[in-house]
Amino acid sequence: MGSIIPLLTEFEKNSISERQALPEKYLGLPDAEMDARIAAARATLGERLVILGHHYQRDEVIRFADFTGDSFKLSRQIATRPKADFIVFCGVHFMAESADVLCAPHQQVILPDLAAGCSMADMADPDQLATCWEELQQMGILGPDTESKSGKAGVIPVTYINSAASIKAFIGERGGTVCTSGNAKATLEWAFERGEKILFLPDQHLGRNTAYYKLGIPLDEMVVWDPHEIFGGLEPEEVKRARMILWKGHCSVHERFTVPQIEAVRRQHPGVRVIVHPEVPWAVVNAADDNGSTEYILKTVRESPAGSVWAVGTEVHLVNRLANEVAPDRTVISLDQFGCLCSTMFRVSPNHLLWILEELVEGRVHNRVTVPDDQKHWNRVALDRMLSIQ
Ligand code: SF4
Repeated sequence: MGSIIPLLTEFEKNSISERQALPEKYLGLPDAEMDARIAAARATLGERLVILGHHYQRDEVIRFADFTGDSFKLSRQIATRPKADFIVFCGVHFMAESADVLCAPHQQVILPDLAAGCSMADMADPDQLATCWEELQQMGILGPDTESKSGKAGVIPVTYINSAASIKAFIGERGGTVCTSGNAKATLEWAFERGEKILFLPDQHLGRNTAYYKLGIPLDEMVVWDPHEIFGGLEPEEVKRARMILWKGHCSVHERFTVPQIEAVRRQHPGVRVIVHPEVPWAVVNAADDNGSTEYILKTVRESPAGSVWAVGTEVHLVNRLANEVAPDRTVISLDQFGCLCSTMFRVSPNHLLWILEELVEGRVHNRVTVPDDQKHWNRVALDRMLSIQ
């Protein structure tokens, strides 16, 4: 007999046991009723509540957010609402974990549906990372004896914010930091001031694109570490020659963008400018006109001259909202004609938001996300480093 939970990621399978499912009475409600009830619950909770909405959320949810942004921007907003007892994070699990680390002790972080994970974050497992670290030591690439004459460490670990709290804790304890797509260049510079090499995880594309396009590191000075292979599937000499050790992970949404799509959009819309998120593959960035974080994409398109036509390579909800916002002065289309949807973000529905808020009004907290105490300290260290690197 097949699995009873088809098409779920490892994270989702693990979290499903603690996930509190949406009660039946919250299914099938008319949109107008949900809107009115969410607004009413929000008003009742007042300053005790803050709702954070990631750019990739659907319209029916993000319209209720007090703050919208990418992971980095939302992380920064937490400190601005000290009176809020409840931080409802309309995003995915790793974002809620970071919020739990950064918030004050009296604040509780809630993810409306605990099955909202991230397939990229699932690609780096703490046991795999511990094994990688040990194997790098066995290869003679890191450890106290391998410090170079310059006094730098052998390897500085850097994890993208799209990773589990356990990964961030491991990295923080070993002198590393967390990065976002917005501060990736500054983060790599920070790490190269401290180490000869960078172990970058979980997104190989963000690591490669930032190192190549922003720092000018040649591709032959980068290797890909496959956590499913012994010694990452690499020879010690290959790793010794490399400056970037890229974890073999990716975003299943952004990997769908391709060079043929760019060629097609240029044929169909002469003069179009193509802008992509750096989670897309290297060749796609190479064929595009520009690349950057979601915040960078928004700013660039908003500030472009009237009449500009843009093809945007990132999650479709952001693209559609941007298209509506800048029309009719500018035209925005998705680089993928079918629109790349983040299906895990999509799990947070207005029904879930309504249920969570009405239960909070009644004094009941569901789907709280907490980072274990033994991981909190080093998480905080890693995230504070991230917030200090611009
Ligand atoms: S878009 Fe990709 S990286 Fe972002 S949450 Fe979805 S799966 Fe994760």
